[in-house]
Amino acid sequence: MYQEKNKIRKTLSAFAVVIVELALMAATTVVFVMAFEHVDAKNTEAKPTASSSAPSSSAAQSSPGRSSQPAGQQFKQPDDWRLVLVNYEHTLPDTFESKIVHEFNVDMDSRIVEPFRQMRDAALKDDIHLWLSSGYRNDEKQQKLYSEEIEAFYKTGISYEDAVSKAAKSVAPPGTSEHITGLAVDVNGVLEDFGGTKEFHWLSEHAQDYGFILRYPMDKQDITHIKYEAWHFRYVGVEHARKMKELNLCLEEYIDYFNKNQTASH
Ligand SMILES: [Zn+2]
Repeated sequence: MYQEKNKIRKTLSAFAVVIVELALMAATTVVFVMAFEHVDAKNTEAKPTASSSAPSSSAAQSSPGRSSQPAGQQFKQPDDWRLVLVNYEHTLPDTFESKIVHEFNVDMDSRIVEPFRQMRDAALKDDIHLWLSSGYRNDEKQQKLYSEEIEAFYKTGISYEDAVSKAAKSVAPPGTSEHITGLAVDVNGVLEDFGGTKEFHWLSEHAQDYGFILRYPMDKQDITHIKYEAWHFRYVGVEHARKMKELNLCLEEYIDYFNKNQTASH
């Protein structure tokens, strides 16, 4: 009888050990999952998306369009709204306010309607016809374009990872396209040979006088991380555009120059 009791006690304590061990394993798993989710959220932060695939972990949750910088990087968005930077590592800051209107068959920031109208009218006087094929694009549209590009590459038989990296070179991942600012426009369709047209030559000579710049020049591809796009123009205001043209600086370089000169003059 006593032996019987002892046996039961032993079995029970063995059970207890197993239960404690299971509990420990579960706890470890929870901690591991939490840590993993945190890293995942941080990674996604660099390229936030507006899609439902955004991580749900709360701490590092990023809202679409929120400005995010890689840790340790000292970058200051200029106070001037016309110089807002959205590129492969900077998303639209929360503080950026705009009113999107529909003009010239596209959506755009209301503040660039008149500058574009003036440029278009001036071009017309020189018998140059400018029209727009794209202006403001929200993250949802960008996500769609991006996904379609990945799919197109994936269908060629390469790995999914390769398809993603190839797609990212031709279509900006959501949150990183300048079209979300409403200050960027694609002129006369997205033509590969637009750089050789008389319309492009007119723009090269005059765009800065209306506040527009060629955003992704041939000789700045290593800085912009975007291949040469002859059709993509960005509004930055007349004074900045003229200065950028004069100094041959792309927006990334000019913001650096602008910020340094701002601090130097104070
Ligand atoms: Zn564009």
